[in-house]
Amino acid sequence: MTSDDKVARAAELIRAGRLVAFPTETVYGLGANALDPDAVARIFAAKGRPRTSPLIVHVDSIEMARTLASHWSDAAELLARRYWPGPLTLVVPKRPLVPDIVTAGLPTVGLRMPAHPLALELIRAAGVPIAAPSANRFTELSPTAAAHIPEALADYTLDGGAARVGIESTVLSLVEAPELLRPGVISITELEALIGPITQAAEPVEGAHASPGMHVRHYRPATPLFLDTVRREGRGIVLRMGQEMPADPRSFAAALYETLHRLDAQSLDWIAIEPPPDTPEWAGILDRLRRAAG
Ligand code: AMP
Ligand code: MG
Repeated sequence: MTSDDKVARAAELIRAGRLVAFPTETVYGLGANALDPDAVARIFAAKGRPRTSPLIVHVDSIEMARTLASHWSDAAELLARRYWPGPLTLVVPKRPLVPDIVTAGLPTVGLRMPAHPLALELIRAAGVPIAAPSANRFTELSPTAAAHIPEALADYTLDGGAARVGIESTVLSLVEAPELLRPGVISITELEALIGPITQAAEPVEGAHASPGMHVRHYRPATPLFLDTVRREGRGIVLRMGQEMPADPRSFAAALYETLHRLDAQSLDWIAIEPPPDTPEWAGILDRLRRAAG
């Protein structure tokens, strides 16, 4: 099958209410028709994801985003024009056509236009927005390659090579005053330069999360992970910045999950990663590392 045939097949399955794993620039997504509550229910069942965790809805254009938002502010327009397609999710008030199961009952919806040609072709061919969390089981490591996706998770998988960005999108709420819900490779500093001051959501704590979906146990490899450079008993590896791991944040993010997937397959007793600096450019990575280390 040609790439076009594969996208056409995947789009047909989306329209039929099935699940399609597809590449985005952040991580691979497990997608369903965002307007079909039964299809979206299959995502939660396949992942073992609690229904309290809202899904990001993927769109192919600002125009499609506007059909799902009941209010599209000037800030939303400015940010979407600057960063879409790209790793930025905007949380905005939703229209009634977005089913409650997608948003975990919230009156708001997280929207993103992904920067991957296959993802955009898939949304266009399906003709509907696609709700998609990462294509992994709940709390496990996100996939940055088709080979990382657990078997039988999706009805069909589109392979688009390695994810370029490598960690999940920055999530920004524009529902009230702008609030950063999840850091990513687009930093708070960059966003503030465009729209002014942004508050940061409180650190998630076990049991009570500031925003649904901000579970502490997330992004976790099977091997115990430590955020230091200490060697321990048994078989393990220390990953240092500028040595085993890249020294710049974009390259580090692109390598992170791929490295953890590879090391997980080696059944090590431990993995230690040198903590990167606590600066805005590293915030997304530090967030994932802290959750992965627990
Ligand atoms: P993921 O599991 O990587 O797909 O993460 C989805 C992220 O988007 C989580 O951090 C959610 O909290 C956030 N999110 C999605 N929709 C909403 C929403 N309506 N309100 C607040 N956060 C949202
Ligand atoms: Mg996820």
